[in-house]
Amino acid sequence: MIIRVLGCSGAIAAGCRTTSFLLDDAVLIDAGTGVGDLPLEALAKIEHILISHSHLDHVLSIGLLADTVSRVRLAEGKAPIWVHALPETLAALRAHIFNGVIWPDFTRLPSAEHPTLAFTPIAVGETMLLGGRRIEVLPASHTVPAVGFAVDGDAAGWWVYTGDTGPNPALWERLQTMTVAHLVIETAFSDDERQRYQAIVAAEHTPERKYEAIPRSSVDMFVR
Ligand SMILES: [Zn+2]
Repeated sequence: MIIRVLGCSGAIAAGCRTTSFLLDDAVLIDAGTGVGDLPLEALAKIEHILISHSHLDHVLSIGLLADTVSRVRLAEGKAPIWVHALPETLAALRAHIFNGVIWPDFTRLPSAEHPTLAFTPIAVGETMLLGGRRIEVLPASHTVPAVGFAVDGDAAGWWVYTGDTGPNPALWERLQTMTVAHLVIETAFSDDERQRYQAIVAAEHTPERKYEAIPRSSVDMFVR
């Protein structure tokens, strides 16, 4: 199993890209600005996109990716790229991005019979088999409906991505029953008092709160 970090920054600037991970060749986990670093051949191999929640830093490459690979996929007779997300997240994508105003509706283009994207709802606790990998949908606690994802790395243990989340007892409860090899945690704010207040409002972690929340474990931990 190869997981490539395409983006793990909270914003853009030279050298900074927002959240996205590529699992092997065919599964994208979140679609931040990091997706744009992939060459066209790699973009055309993506068959599934898992979206943790509707915030722009996690979704803004979906539409650009669809536009980029649409002709190639149509010429090769490929099925749509499946976008897996909570029903609320899919509804937000339809209403606010793929609405014909911000971006064309690629769930109906280039034709309703052969669209570039297909939306499919997921639920917390659900397990999917994508690209030959077992992936579980994890609970998250954020300002909008949100999830995390765990990818089964067989004997190596699970690769876990929390998505954007504040204090989340249900997540730690679930992780205590899994062999977690790698844990990727979002941390949006620093620890100074002003930003701590913002973090509470935004239902996201500061580094200090994040570490307090993590049960003792021996996993490799990455804070983005
Ligand atoms: Zn967010």
